Amino acid sequence: MRSPCVTPAIVLRSWPFGESDKIVSFFTEDHGKVTGIAKGAKRSRKRFVNTLEPFSLINLRFQDRPHSTLAFVQACDPIRLFKDLTTSLEKIAYASYLVEITDGLAGEREENRRIFEHLREGLIFVEENGPSLSFLTFFELRLLKLAGYQPILEHCRRCRRHFQEGSQIPWRFSPRDGGVLCAPCSTFRREAIPLSGEALDALAELQRANRILPHHLSLPSTVLREGRPALLRFIQFQANRELKSAPFLDAFYSE
Ligand SMILES: [Zn+2]
Repeated sequence: MRSPCVTPAIVLRSWPFGESDKIVSFFTEDHGKVTGIAKGAKRSRKRFVNTLEPFSLINLRFQDRPHSTLAFVQACDPIRLFKDLTTSLEKIAYASYLVEITDGLAGEREENRRIFEHLREGLIFVEENGPSLSFLTFFELRLLKLAGYQPILEHCRRCRRHFQEGSQIPWRFSPRDGGVLCAPCSTFRREAIPLSGEALDALAELQRANRILPHHLSLPSTVLREGRPALLRFIQFQANRELKSAPFLDAFYSE
């Protein structure tokens, strides 16, 4: 039998299984996304005291089981439980969204240490600084890049033309094409989302950033208004699912 694996991990989600167990999905530092069964976690909370709650950063010990895609969760020791994230509904909405899009874009057992670090730093940022849509936009763009889905924002995805500064005709973001299309190329993509030159420039600059800088933290409201739906649609397209936490998050910004 293989020896157990021990790795730092963040709880993405968990759901009940049978009378007394839980299935838990983690993003681990060393093995990418790992889904496992935690025996007795539903009936007795003693064995996994608070460590299976979403967003918890823990030290996970698990063992792979023959003929099963579910690992056996042996132990979870707390590293950082992000208690301050649960003090406001808005922070919970943000954290839920960060873990859900990470879950949606990451493949099972595809090791990616940089995604683990990005998620951990994202949760720390929200816990310490509170909600920020500009930060969320940075988080999405960098996650897409790390997961191998970086959208093309620098030039038209079809004809490779660069956006002319000062042009009044909006370009469009097309999830299906994996980036932006110039006005003529987007004629047949009615579902693509219009993006002004200002939004395009700001998103492209943010995409090049490796970390969040003070001036990135206050994107103009026009950029957020245009950029948020484009990125959300793109992430849903790549994850091939609706994001449950997106409407929850939107509820804080509806007028
Ligand atoms: Zn074009």
